[in-house]
Order: sequence, then C-alpha cells, then structure tokens
Amino acid sequence: MTRIAIVGVAGRMGRVLATAVHQDADAVLAGGTVRPESSLVGTDIGELTGLGKLGVMATDSLERVVDDIDAVIDFTTPSATLANLAFCASHGKRLVIGTTGLDDEQLATLDSYCDRVPMVFAPNMSVGVNLTLNLLQTAAAALGDEGYDIEVVEAHHRHKVDSPSGTALKMGETVAQALGRTLKEHGVFERVGQCGPRRDDEIGFATVRAGDIVGEHTVMFATEGERIEITHKASSRMTFAKGAVRAARWLSAQPAGRYDMQDVLGLNAES
Ligand code: NAD
Repeated sequence: MTRIAIVGVAGRMGRVLATAVHQDADAVLAGGTVRPESSLVGTDIGELTGLGKLGVMATDSLERVVDDIDAVIDFTTPSATLANLAFCASHGKRLVIGTTGLDDEQLATLDSYCDRVPMVFAPNMSVGVNLTLNLLQTAAAALGDEGYDIEVVEAHHRHKVDSPSGTALKMGETVAQALGRTLKEHGVFERVGQCGPRRDDEIGFATVRAGDIVGEHTVMFATEGERIEITHKASSRMTFAKGAVRAARWLSAQPAGRYDMQDVLGLNAES
C-alpha cells in the first residue's frame, strides 16, 4: 500500500489527484497541502473534492504529514516543485512531478537530486500520450527526411500559464531526436509579420488557449499531396491523475533516479 500526499490539493489537478488516490485499491490518501496563506488549511480533503468526509485534512506543509507518507504527487508550480524535491531528499520520500514550465536552470536543479530521490517527471502522465510519443518516433523516422513539414499544434483551457505546453515540447523533442535535430536549433515558436517562407527542417509550434479545453495535441507531417496527423485529445483530467498514481506506486520498487512515464509504462525501447 503506497501512502500518498498531494501538494496543491485544492488545484484543478490536485482535486482530481486526491480522488484518483482515494479510488486506487493499492494507495492511501495520507495528506494534502494548500498554500500556507490559504483559507482551506484544515479543511477535510474529502469535502474539498466532493468525496465526503475522509478525516484527512489539508495542511500548510508536507512536514506535518512526514511520518504518514511514502510518496508525494506534485502538480503545482516550478518553484513549489523544487522546494518539494528538497523535502523529499531530506526525508527519503518518492516524488511524482507533473508540473510543467520549468526553465533550464530549474531543470538542472531538478537533475541535481537524481542521486537522492526516486522521481517520475513527465509533462503528461496519460497512457495515450505516452503511446503517441512512440508513434511519433516511428512517423518521424519514416517521414521527416522525406520532405514532410512537421508542425505541433496544441490547445488548452484559458487558465494555463505556460506555452507551448510541456506535452507539445516533449512531442517536438521526440520528433527532433528521431531526426538528429534539436528544438533549440530547429524549433520555431513564433511567426509574426514578414517572417518569410518555411525552412525545410523547421519544427513549428502553434498554441490555442480557450475555454475549458483539457488538452489537445496534434503533430502534423505535411507534404505536397498528403498530410498525416497524429492527434491526442484528453477529455478528463482523470487520465493524468490515474497515470500519476500508477507512477507513485511504480516508484516504490525503484532506486533514486529521474524516470518518465515511458519507464513507468514499459514503453521505453531500452527498458
Ligand atoms: P492550478 O493552478 O489549478 O493548481 C496548482 C495548485 O498548486 C494551486 O491550487 C496552488 O495554490 C497550488 N500551489 C502552488 N504553490 C503551492 C505551495 N507552495 N504549496 C501548496 N500548494 C501550492 O493548476 P493545474 O491546472 O492543476 O496545473 C498544475 C500544473 O500541472 C501545471 O504546471 C500544469 O501544466 C501541470 N499539468 C500536468 C499534467 C501532466 O500530466 N503532467 C496534466 C495537467 C496539468
């Protein structure tokens, strides 16, 4: 039985994660945090999430449940995630990170904990997206050098703060890697005004932010005469939450290291 705390349990993902942990036969919801200044400190997490009283209260820090938990799931902000990584390193806890939008410096800090914390870090925890990454690898290897233009288009709800989405970047990186390209050199994130014709080796990104879209990603391989589109559409946050709980359970058998959902799902060619 894996005892799990959810950081940011009042957030859009936090509430769904609490429900997913509660519904998992091999996991126990053992804690959840909200911002220290939040009026929700002390609220029953079950009431917060519509599950009814559970007797597990939202706290202002993980320190308060340190003896009750084995693993932490964190879908918050980059700075909060790095603070929680330090907590997990000091207290021997496992960490599942769904937070996106970390910059290069924050990613380097995250990597510096690899030798101390078993962690899963993935911009998208759904089984479908992770299978899609494998399909993209195959498509890119077959088409990318054959005159097909590659574009990544993503759409999310109006509250999302980072762009392009972590999943869109991961899809772009997967395609780039299969073709021996890099997003630093070949990624095009903006086309405004007289920006000229497309380069053959560009990997373009386009972003939509509207309403309550949970998450949609399309990678397009287009040439004269045909276009292939590989699309994933998430219609419920529960798909991410279930993946995160699965990752937390999977981590219990892993030594310190940084893993992704491909490792959890056994989709990595080398795993
Ligand atoms: P949200 O703003 O609804 O929730 C974030 C919550 O974290 C908020 O309630 C906020 O108060 C809380 N928080 C921030 N700092 C905190 C701290 N120090 N202590 C306690 N709580 C704190 O956002 P969201 O839509 O739930 O998304 C959260 C993150 O998860 C984003 O980065 C998003 O891109 C990512 N996300 C990842 C996946 C995935 O599968 N990996 C899926 C969906 C969303």
